Amino acid sequence: MVAILLFSIPARAEWLSEARPLMGTEISVRLWHDDPAEGERLIDEVFAEAERINQLMSTYIQDSQISDINRNAASGPVAAGDELFLIIRRSLDISALTKGAFDITYDSVGQHYDFRNRQRPDAATVEAERKLIDYRLIELDESARTVRFLQQGVRINLGGIAKGYVVERGVDILRMRGVRNAIVSAGGDSRLLGDRRGQPWMVGIRDPRNDGQVAISVPLQDEAISTSGDYERYFEEGDTRYHHIIQPNTGAPASGVHSATVFGPDAVLTDALSTSVFVMGVDQGLTLIATLPDYEGIVIDDAGRIYYSDGLMQPEAQDFDPPPIDE
Ligand code: ADP
Ligand code: MG
Repeated sequence: MVAILLFSIPARAEWLSEARPLMGTEISVRLWHDDPAEGERLIDEVFAEAERINQLMSTYIQDSQISDINRNAASGPVAAGDELFLIIRRSLDISALTKGAFDITYDSVGQHYDFRNRQRPDAATVEAERKLIDYRLIELDESARTVRFLQQGVRINLGGIAKGYVVERGVDILRMRGVRNAIVSAGGDSRLLGDRRGQPWMVGIRDPRNDGQVAISVPLQDEAISTSGDYERYFEEGDTRYHHIIQPNTGAPASGVHSATVFGPDAVLTDALSTSVFVMGVDQGLTLIATLPDYEGIVIDDAGRIYYSDGLMQPEAQDFDPPPIDE
């Protein structure tokens, strides 16, 4: 026994991180672990979970469960399985909360966009398809766990909530395995576990019009933060920017805001709310956030002005003498 203890190699605790492309974005995991080999194994586990959720929820995968619903739910109830059912139900609850700003049926119009190839629906297509954007056209059967669409042509897409679910699940797995400091991100959604070992994580909100620049840094721990921006997927024609967040009433990309950030305890909600606040705009969006205990928001409008929810301390202008620079 003693010999083993004497000759065992002390563990090298360290930060481990990895990023991989998935779900049309980059997913990254960073964690602290006493045992690097075990830490690497846990990182793989988080990516495997993200793959699993993507297989379930991606409309780009023909044999995903959600594609099955989109093909068949207008003809009759389709079994969704517990997990997909619950996330669809959650989406409908958020539609009610946001008075329809968040609506997973946006995809009847959304499906006609192809941002990489600069494709967009023409006015007649938008006019026809936008009538099918209405979350009340989705009927759920709680006991059978089925989904039915009340009209032909309705389609759902979980792009506004699935990444939040992925990072929430990722952190759940790490917490269950005893990790105490980690950050899991998927595009604009991050879930933080604990702090950065003695200091808060500093999460940067991007400057929406300066690639690579940070507009605001927020110190956070044990929380989720999501940003929706008109810079994630878009193309421009003349002065018009066609981007990926759809105003359900008009079927057009939402205007007035460049980015909306929400933070709070649950990444599924921060993800859906960041999309919602983007659609609702500064006033309505921040009014909604004010009604939700534990959630705060920061909106950057189309003039670059920054607005904070009531519960946030406005950062004070600081007297700061920069240290001399050695040349
Ligand atoms: P990202 O992290 O990709 O920026 P967001 O959380 O901002 O994601 O959500 C944008 C995505 O949400 C779009 O790509 C689309 O899939 C989906 N979406 C667009 N408009 C709406 C809407 N009004 N309600 C719900 N989901 C939407
Ligand atoms: Mg979102």
